[in-house]
Amino acid sequence: MPVTTPAAPAPPLPALDTALPQDFGALLRQDPEVGGILLAEAGRQSSTLQLIAAENFTSPAVLAALGSPLANKYAEGYPGARHHGGCEQADAVERVAVRRAVSLFGAEHANVQPHSGSSAVLAAYAALLRPGDTVLAMGLPSGGHLTHGAPGNFSGRWFEFAGYGVDPDSGLIDYAQVRALARARRPKAIVCGSISYPRHPDYEQFRDIADEAGAYLIADAAHPMGLIAGGAAPSPVPYADVVCATTHKVLRGPRGGMILCGAELSERIDRAVFPFTQGGAQMHTVAAKAVAFGEAAAPGFAVYAHRVVAHARVMAAALEAEGFEVATGGTDTHIVVADPGPLGVDARTARERLTAAGMVLDTCALPYGDARGIRLGTAAVTTQGMDEDDMTRIASLLGAAVRGEGDAGGLRDEVRGMAERNPPYPG
Ligand SMILES: *Cc1c(COP(=O)(O)O)cnc(C)c1O
Repeated sequence: MPVTTPAAPAPPLPALDTALPQDFGALLRQDPEVGGILLAEAGRQSSTLQLIAAENFTSPAVLAALGSPLANKYAEGYPGARHHGGCEQADAVERVAVRRAVSLFGAEHANVQPHSGSSAVLAAYAALLRPGDTVLAMGLPSGGHLTHGAPGNFSGRWFEFAGYGVDPDSGLIDYAQVRALARARRPKAIVCGSISYPRHPDYEQFRDIADEAGAYLIADAAHPMGLIAGGAAPSPVPYADVVCATTHKVLRGPRGGMILCGAELSERIDRAVFPFTQGGAQMHTVAAKAVAFGEAAAPGFAVYAHRVVAHARVMAAALEAEGFEVATGGTDTHIVVADPGPLGVDARTARERLTAAGMVLDTCALPYGDARGIRLGTAAVTTQGMDEDDMTRIASLLGAAVRGEGDAGGLRDEVRGMAERNPPYPG
């Protein structure tokens, strides 16, 4: 899927149906302890700025599917071949989800059952590899995910990982190093995808390196999958043997995973998800994935995806003006990685000050040295309807909070005001 430019001028974002489906009143009466916690969380989300790059606000329709009676249903297996009775509606909804995923991403096959992004990666490895095989993936210090060889994760325990990195000056993937490592280590699979790389992987080049090494190419597109759905990022589907993804990041669906692949790997992938790595699918989540895929296929979603990237670019430039050093000098995605070092503050202190001021984000590895940076994303604030001026304003609030300027209470009040003027679920 090519990267398209949005129609100009951008139409307003379509309004989500905004009433929350949950009846907090009933829950609070029956169980004040848990109900009170959920109410407090709703309040936290609507009074602070959600800048965690992996988070978003799902629509009330997605929340309704998650809270539906399909949550009660057991449905081991696949549509038409279940181990339980009474699966008529479970089959119907999974077929809709698969049909929509295949059409949205132009894939030959989709498995929509993985419980999470990590479960999807586990199943992809299970389908293609044997324990002890060598895998080449982005090194964890450069932005690789836990499932890319972390010692405490199944991946690091069961496979031999070799890690490629980024050029320390540009922050960009060093493809010459990837190719050299592939020649030297002869991996069985090469993984491209990261938790913090703000640029597009060159999927064509990864394909070429994988072909030369006789390796499978696995794209772990957990982060950019929503940008890909909206035509705002290039698609790995034409290049990768297997594409793993989450459905809850920019894609704005329920927490969960998904795998796309070509027809000839489809049976191996399906068997690797069930029965190898999972039991019964969570059918309420599968239904919510179907709803999210439907939303992502609507024209308004392409507007949203392009706006998320435009907002991240505004944010990157504004953070640079605030004195942060922005990794790779900017972004092509929803992710901005910034080093607060030039402001005389380390990333952990920066995050603490930002949390106190109501701006919620993560720290992450920086492409150079041992210092960490802050990672933020524009998916959630864009769903809330914020605009480019809001991004510039958030960047100046981030700068003031990290520098420890002014009174923390005043900053917190201003952040609360911004969040409350743009409620994720009005009403
Ligand atoms: C988020 C992410 C995952 C894992 O997703 P979970 O749903 O948290 O298990 C895997 N790989 C990458 C690159 C990710 O960004």
